[in-house]
Amino acid sequence: MYFWHDADFDKLRASRQGQHHALLLTGAPGIGKSAFARAWAAALLCEQPDVRGRACGHCVACVWFAQGNHPDLRTLIPEALDPFHEPTGKGAKPARDIRIDQVRALAGFVSVGGHRGGCKVILVDPADAFNAASGNALLKTLEEPAGDTRFLLVSSRLDWLPATIRSRCAVVALRAPAAEDAVRWLVDEHGLSKTEATRLLAAAGGAPLRARDLAEPELGAAHRLVLDALAKLPQASLIATAEQLAAVEPAQWVSILQTWIGELARVQSGAAPRFFPEQGARLKALAAQTDLLLLTNYETGIRRLTRHAEHPLNPKLLCENALVGYCSLFEKHGS
Ligand SMILES: [Zn+2]
Repeated sequence: MYFWHDADFDKLRASRQGQHHALLLTGAPGIGKSAFARAWAAALLCEQPDVRGRACGHCVACVWFAQGNHPDLRTLIPEALDPFHEPTGKGAKPARDIRIDQVRALAGFVSVGGHRGGCKVILVDPADAFNAASGNALLKTLEEPAGDTRFLLVSSRLDWLPATIRSRCAVVALRAPAAEDAVRWLVDEHGLSKTEATRLLAAAGGAPLRARDLAEPELGAAHRLVLDALAKLPQASLIATAEQLAAVEPAQWVSILQTWIGELARVQSGAAPRFFPEQGARLKALAAQTDLLLLTNYETGIRRLTRHAEHPLNPKLLCENALVGYCSLFEKHGS
């Protein structure tokens, strides 16, 4: 768990909410929710938690937890995010959603008591990876868990979760750290200069783990490419730009596009850009050619698009569609 979540941990532990059998941890991507969930799970399973309720780190339960083989813990993640996933057949692509057989496999686990006499923990990360069938399959367990079974669901996109699942959980909103804490962490732990850390943190919307990823040359280059491409439209060739974007992981360019539209809306309403201050002049010029309603409508469309970005059938077509909409934002008001 990251130090900026210490206070949230204490607060949750002291609250009634913290006793709920199903916690849904939410907050912006890249702020450390998964680490928080693991720390919470470890604390639930630890046999000698410290005075602040943290896992001790050295009892038998903690050792098993660290090795990934505690018998009272199950983790549900999509195959595509599982580093230990072994492909079943030649050319079989790992699933990006949580499959129904993964949920069904929990049946035996929830029906027996904990091996160590304590609770059992089911960690789902990210919980928005449920599809309709697997989400449904989980509902029953979530509703009537056998024995002391605790659920920890992690999601940055609450609106993607079936309402039936959401309503059975206590929603815990985790905050992003204060900018100075995040910058200090990027400097101390990842060796960035203060200037670089500040710039990347802004580009990552204040999420330190995303900022750290952007410091990776490959991701950073992709980020710059997308940003440059967006700034050059609508004057540049749409087809050429779509080709450039298609080379980037869809989830990444869609997320940058979303932030960019948010910036345009901000500048439109007279505020200063928050995430791309170095693009201030360009944002201002573009904002003058469109209006808030168009931006808001487009943003809604893009949010719908993010769902498809997880499974693009044709990445280039996805880019073209998004960019046609983007360029049309500036048509009516163009001079
Ligand atoms: Zn322990």
